[in-house]
Amino acid sequence: MNILNNISLKANNTFGIDCKVKNFVSIRNEKDIKVLYKSDITLNSKSIILGEGSNVLFVGDFDGLVIHNEIKGYNIIESNNDFIIIEAGAGEKWHDFVSLSINNGYSGLENLALIPGTVGSAAIQNIGAYGVEQNEFIDSVYGFNIEKHIFQRIYKINCNYGYRDSIFKNELKDKFIISSVRYTLSKSPVVNYNYKDIINLFKEFNITNPTPIDIFKAVISIRNEKLPDWRQLGNSGSFFKNPIVSKKVIVDIKSKFPDIPVFPQTNNLFKLSAAWMIEQTGWKGFRVGDAGVYEKHALILVNHGNASGESIFQLSMDIRKSVKLKFNVELEPEVLIISN
Ligand code: NAP
Repeated sequence: MNILNNISLKANNTFGIDCKVKNFVSIRNEKDIKVLYKSDITLNSKSIILGEGSNVLFVGDFDGLVIHNEIKGYNIIESNNDFIIIEAGAGEKWHDFVSLSINNGYSGLENLALIPGTVGSAAIQNIGAYGVEQNEFIDSVYGFNIEKHIFQRIYKINCNYGYRDSIFKNELKDKFIISSVRYTLSKSPVVNYNYKDIINLFKEFNITNPTPIDIFKAVISIRNEKLPDWRQLGNSGSFFKNPIVSKKVIVDIKSKFPDIPVFPQTNNLFKLSAAWMIEQTGWKGFRVGDAGVYEKHALILVNHGNASGESIFQLSMDIRKSVKLKFNVELEPEVLIISN
């Protein structure tokens, strides 16, 4: 295991922020994790675990240890006529895993095509898109408990999954390194497409009975059209979560903004579109220096070249303030903000 010192993280975060980290190490298997946690370096510095760095904003240099999860590989754990349980290394790219599943006829993950990041970060963040969340298909998460110094399997029921939330962002935050994740996928097609963009695309191409592959291709085409490729324009996907609010808030907000989109949830709660509110406050396409809001999607903050983490963070705070002022709604970042 090779520990690098004082290197730039520009290539390790999809925002493309050029910040420095004191120590950097890659882990490629479970043995690497054990060796790492027997060494002094983990005792003497704070650490964070990065996959593709697709959901983080470094506000400045990081005076600690970055552990880069590069654990790869796939295993079939169980397979019958109806379903398959596949185990994927936490460092596998999420989209590669989705493509492999779809190309082998296993359905479920097609709505989650082209989401940046790794399998491990998908399980932490409980990624979701087009009405599907990854936890619907998860069996269990395996990894190293840093406090107990043991490998553990955590079954889905104990992962406490919620909207972009899990035990790995709460009780086990910075205490667990995911090495692999098991998913149960169906061998018979199960499709879910109630989002306007997908429905419109199928209408345009006269697809009346879409297959999982049709959904997979539609999501790729829509995302390519609507969302910036971080290799060309640094970004971290949706910067904010969609607020989930009570009926009382909805009644109040609807009286002032009758056109605001509202999506009913369970438990008498309602989802608001963060993108819509940001657009209504005039931020879409805004740019200050190299920090900006994407011109085609108000939920995505972008780095036009050499923005600092601090400037993107400041922009996010300004957006939060004006949404609060206009709608009296608090926006919460979906992206993990990292500062010393
Ligand atoms: P959109 O279709 O323009 O809709 C705007 C918002 O309204 C979305 O955030 C979505 O919530 C909600 N919405 C729309 N139709 C809905 C329905 N039928 N049922 C429930 N909620 C509905 O969305 P978009 O911005 O182009 O994004 C499309 C999908 O990709 C969304 O699911 C979004 O979350 C996902 N996405 C994820 C990321 C990421 O980085 N994680 C980035 C971009 C887009 P939800 O967001 O809760 O679905």
